[in-house]
Amino acid sequence: MKAPRFAYARPASVAEALALLVEHKGDARVLAGGQSLVPMLNFRLAAPKVLVDINRIAALSGIAVAKDHVRIGALTRHAELERSADIARHLPLIAQAVPQVAHAAIRNRGTFGGSCALADPAAELPACALALAATFVIAGPKGERRVAAKDFFAGLYATALRPDELLLAAEFPLPKPGRVSAFGELARRHGDYAMVGIAVHGSNAGKRFSDLHAVFFGVGDRPVRATNFEKALEGQPATQKTIESALGKLDADLDPRADLQASAAAKRHLARVLAGRVLNQFMVAAA
Ligand SMILES: Cc1cc2nc3c(=O)[nH]c(=O)nc-3n(C[C@H](O)[C@H](O)[C@H](O)COP(=O)(O)OP(=O)(O)OC[C@H]3O[C@@H](n4cnc5c(N)ncnc54)[C@H](O)[C@@H]3O)c2cc1C
Repeated sequence: MKAPRFAYARPASVAEALALLVEHKGDARVLAGGQSLVPMLNFRLAAPKVLVDINRIAALSGIAVAKDHVRIGALTRHAELERSADIARHLPLIAQAVPQVAHAAIRNRGTFGGSCALADPAAELPACALALAATFVIAGPKGERRVAAKDFFAGLYATALRPDELLLAAEFPLPKPGRVSAFGELARRHGDYAMVGIAVHGSNAGKRFSDLHAVFFGVGDRPVRATNFEKALEGQPATQKTIESALGKLDADLDPRADLQASAAAKRHLARVLAGRVLNQFMVAAA
């Protein structure tokens, strides 16, 4: 099918983009990499009257390391994250996750902000943002506001973004010394959305788990922090026995629904297997 008719605007600044979003209220849609929005238009799953193409707004792109955080601009392409020495050094969780996002051609166009604004529950980068306690920076008609990742993802393809707002960036606190990350996902083929995935960030100082953020994706309507699982690991010796016992708590954290890829029971099983594997990776990375 072909997309329904729409008007097209290509603002040169954030202010111009916001003016267009305000003018057209809920009838406008931001176009970033177009890797999800264009198929949605073609399948007629979306029919905005106006597309606001932000690709010419240079201020939305790039990775900047500040004193206490790394800022990733909304328009930063997945491929740029993949190649970035700053990401590899400061946010290794993202460096591990991003090669799992789709295929190279899609990563060349798809953007960090598009992925987070879309909020697909099986997407990698929203889970990383939650695990790393990122803060989203949003511009709207009344100025800028900041929303913690835990409050940003609001449900199935739903976020805290309002129709007249633009996601500018996300700020990731620079990890404290000794913090470790591990990431894994199970997908039918490399590049497919995950059936189940997990992003883990925390400490293994003194060979004990502490301050872990364990975030699952593909098993709920948004990225899910497994707090019972985390509590069972907190302060415990980093051993296989501890992991085995904590895995039993996952039933209290995860309530997956069946989807086209797997039944709910299969997802629960896969989540357990994957969490065990990724925590083992975490212990090795921390050694
Ligand atoms: C075959 C295929 C496989 C894929 N596999 C994966 C995968 O495994 N994992 C994964 O995470 N993704 C996957 N994707 C999606 C891909 O990562 C997209 O890049 C991403 O979902 C959307 O980014 P985009 O820049 O293309 O956004 P667009 O398609 O341009 O926009 C997506 C949505 O976000 C909104 N939006 C975009 N930027 C902003 C902004 N700055 N402010 C406010 N709203 C904004 C748009 O209005 C739209 O609603 C896949 C896509 C395809 C086609």
